[in-house]
Amino acid sequence: MIIVLKPECTKEQRISFSEMLKENYDVKVNVWDGVHSTVLGLIGDTTQVDIEYIDAQDIVESVKRVQEPYKKANRKFHPENTVIEVGNVKIGDGSLNIMAGPCSVESEEQIVEIAKQVKASGATLLRGGAFKPRTSPYAFQGLKAEGLDLLKIARKETGLPIVTEIMRTSHIDMFESVDIIQVGARNMQNFELLKELGKIDKPILLKRGLSATIEEWLMSAEYIMAGGNSKVILCERGIRTYETFTRNTLDIAAIPIVKRLSHLPVIADPSHASGKSWLVEDLAMASVAAGADGLIIEVHNDPPHALSDGAQSLTPKQFDKVAKKLFSLKSSLVK
Ligand code: PEP
Ligand code: MN
Repeated sequence: MIIVLKPECTKEQRISFSEMLKENYDVKVNVWDGVHSTVLGLIGDTTQVDIEYIDAQDIVESVKRVQEPYKKANRKFHPENTVIEVGNVKIGDGSLNIMAGPCSVESEEQIVEIAKQVKASGATLLRGGAFKPRTSPYAFQGLKAEGLDLLKIARKETGLPIVTEIMRTSHIDMFESVDIIQVGARNMQNFELLKELGKIDKPILLKRGLSATIEEWLMSAEYIMAGGNSKVILCERGIRTYETFTRNTLDIAAIPIVKRLSHLPVIADPSHASGKSWLVEDLAMASVAAGADGLIIEVHNDPPHALSDGAQSLTPKQFDKVAKKLFSLKSSLVK
C-alpha cells in the first residue's frame, strides 16, 4: 500500500502516523522523501488496513493499494487451479460441467423427468430452486422443504448431484444433504450467511451480485474462505447496466479476469444473464470460449407454464442441442 502525505505534513506528524501504522497493522513502513511530498510504502499483509480510514486522515493526500485485499481467493498465493469434487464430478479440472434444471422445483414428476432428460444430454449436476428469492412477494416462493425432498428423489433416480439456493443461515442444517449450496445474486453480500457457510465443508456456488464489482465478488468468496471453507465456485450471472433489452448484461470479460485473479473455478449463467431462451445458446458458447469451467442453465419441460423464469428456460430438446454444441466447442479449444 502506498500513502502519499500532504506537503504540509510535519516530520513529527509523519513519525507518529508511521508508528500508528506499524502498531495497528503489524507492517513495515518505508519512507521516501520527495521534493514536494513524502510517500510511505507499507510492506507486509495489508489486508487488515482500513483504506478509507487512512484516506480520511488530515495529513494524507492519497492512498492506493498495490495488492488485492483478498488473500485466500488470490491466485498469487495459490497459483494452481482449485478443483472442486462432488461425487465423480470435478469442477475446475479443465473439463466442462453443466448444471441444468428448472428455475424452481414444482413437482416430483417435473423434477425427475427434467433430471433424466438433462442427464441424457450430458449435464453432470441438477439445479432446481426450492427457496426462491422473488422480486415480488406475491410471486411463487418455491416449495421450500418439500422442494429439497423432491430434489433428493431426483438425485436418487439419476445419480446427479443437486445444486440449490439457500437464503438464510437458520436453514444450513436443512441443506445438510445438498451437494452444492447456491448463494444467489441477491445474497452475495449477506455477510452473516457467508460467514456461516465458511464453517461448513460443502461446495458453495457464489453468484455475482447484480451490482457487484469483481473485487466485491472476490471479497465475498474471501468471507467464505476466511471461515475455513475453500470450496467456492464463482458464477457470473450478468450484472445490471443501462441496457434493458436483456434481463442483465453478461460480463464475459469477468470470466478470464476472475480466472486470472483467482484460482477458484468460474462458471456462467446464460439464463439469468439474458432472460431470453433464444439467447442462451450464444451466451453459453461465448462463456465456454472465454474459459468458463462450467455453466448453469435453466431447463423446463413446459416453459410457458413454468412457475418462475419460463421465458429464459430451454426445453429439454433445446438443451440437448445446446449441450452438444457446448461439448463440441470445449473439445475443439486449444488447451
Ligand atoms: C436462480 O438461480 O434461479 C436465481 C435466482 O439466480 P440469481 O441469484 O442469479 O438471480
Ligand atoms: Mn431462475
